[in-house]
Amino acid sequence: MQIESVDKQIQFIQNYMSAKNAATGSEVDQNANVANKNIATMAAELPKKNMIALNRELMYRKLTTLYGEDLAKQYLEDLSHHIIYKHDETSIFPYCCSISLYPFILEGLTKIGGSSTAPKHLDSFCGSFINLVFLVAGQFAGATATPEFLTYFDHFARIDYGEDYINHLDDVVENLKSKQITLREKLEHYFAQIVYTVNQPAGARGYQSIFWNIAYFDEDYFKSIFKDFFFPDGDEPCWETTKELQKLFMKWFNKERLKDILTFPVETANMHVVNGKYADEETMNFMCEMWAEGASFFMYQSDSVDSLSSCCRLRNGIEDNTFSYTLGAGGIETGSKGVITLNLNRIVQDATRAKITIKDYITTIINRVHKYLNAFNEIIWDYKNGNLLTIFNAGFIDLDRQYLTIGINGFVEGAEYLGIPIDPDSVEYQQYSKDILETIKDLNAAARTEHCKFNTEFVPGESLGVKNAKWDKKDGYEVPRDCYNSYFYIVEDETCDPIQKFRYQGINFTGCCDGGSAYHCNLDEHLSAVQYRMLADIAVIEGCNYWTYNVKNTICNDCGFISKHTLQKCPKCGGTNLDYATRIIGYLKRVGAWSAGRQIEEGQRAYWNGVPRC
Ligand SMILES: [Zn+2]
Repeated sequence: MQIESVDKQIQFIQNYMSAKNAATGSEVDQNANVANKNIATMAAELPKKNMIALNRELMYRKLTTLYGEDLAKQYLEDLSHHIIYKHDETSIFPYCCSISLYPFILEGLTKIGGSSTAPKHLDSFCGSFINLVFLVAGQFAGATATPEFLTYFDHFARIDYGEDYINHLDDVVENLKSKQITLREKLEHYFAQIVYTVNQPAGARGYQSIFWNIAYFDEDYFKSIFKDFFFPDGDEPCWETTKELQKLFMKWFNKERLKDILTFPVETANMHVVNGKYADEETMNFMCEMWAEGASFFMYQSDSVDSLSSCCRLRNGIEDNTFSYTLGAGGIETGSKGVITLNLNRIVQDATRAKITIKDYITTIINRVHKYLNAFNEIIWDYKNGNLLTIFNAGFIDLDRQYLTIGINGFVEGAEYLGIPIDPDSVEYQQYSKDILETIKDLNAAARTEHCKFNTEFVPGESLGVKNAKWDKKDGYEVPRDCYNSYFYIVEDETCDPIQKFRYQGINFTGCCDGGSAYHCNLDEHLSAVQYRMLADIAVIEGCNYWTYNVKNTICNDCGFISKHTLQKCPKCGGTNLDYATRIIGYLKRVGAWSAGRQIEEGQRAYWNGVPRC
């Protein structure tokens, strides 16, 4: 194992001091979630190269034990040849998780090293919930999802303020010396306490705030997930009050983002579709109204309530036979243990040079990648057996329900190299998708074992999209752009309208994929609720499961004013010293905090102007 020389580390410190922001200063994994550059963020960067060396050595030894040294050598070669990329090699944690809150309200935080006992009231639930999220996030490299957050919040709100609390929001519930507090104000105070704390830079995560995801449900999803579920006191989840609480939270969060660009939680609304129609009209129409008001959240629609999008990286099959009623939350305790992403542009060009079909070439690589992921899984199991992964031991999540993920990057670029038209109706482009994605899907299914299940996703590739393009250019490959796409369409193509993009992200393409791919619809202005509803119907027709809208928000650097519209001049002070906020990829962040490469990419994104041709 090679230790980074002191000279190099000193050079790094010099470079970091002069870098424009923390993301640009980072040499190994540029990340805009670190909004501040300071000594703590630099301290987190310093050991990263040694951590990568350590992780590679761990993988090398594990692969040698499991499959022999030739495969271990091949792993290092595949990494250095940049056909694969192992995410989060700078940390030793598993990737992301979607946890059940049941162990938390049963036993508090005592099983995972905290001191709080089980919460009994809304106040202690909210206070301890924050600690829970920090404790869980401390054991993962990526996101922490708590899809049941509002359902549990509702449970405690009903305990403290009555079963029909949601109809008495203007009642005074507290008399302070200076003012009276209504129930609405009280609930919003709890929202603020949780949301602002989670968005704080976390000391233990190198000043990176926690990636926190929550879910909204329509009636069918809610009833499917919480069917036969009881809280420890015998209470049952209540759809009528949770539905209204969801609305209250969404409205509050959308308004709060006018005060501060709050990145988290990343929200996903899960909607059930029956016979081509949204089953819960009321919830669907509410969501469209929220979009029209400028709210920014993901939408997941499926004709089966057996899958649920709990975080931006994952589409989970909720499998009946693994429902864990004792933990009370089927389909929740999941996530991705680790991700290895394929650089398809390079793979396609290598296959062409070797005169091997893409399908055969991909098959050989995937067979290796499954072994790499299996070895990684064994390492995670070693940690668990060594009692290091207490979140798993305490029942918040189950290792066997988590996925090992094959990421996709450079998909469009590979097709462009082959001269295939990037067109949703092109038979060639559809065949290209099948050759790659269906092949992987079938191999994933065949390779599944008791402790390993695989899925495929179009990874956001916040820093990887830029890295892959750079590496490929350096090694003489054809590189059409400086940051590889994360979609089935070309992100900078201004002629491609939002409706067409639903077709790109529709059944012909994402249908080949056994994981997530999110369509980011970039618009230069918000649409009306009716227009959003029309687009949502088009999503169903095209079979696009997962999408969001991005209208750049404007932030005035002089007076701090925030607008949900893309403006050239501050409406409050008239200043033009402006920054913008949009999703770097999955999450909303000031463009000024992005890495230099991603800022250039953002400048090239096509934001559709004008009403789509509905
Ligand atoms: Zn201003």
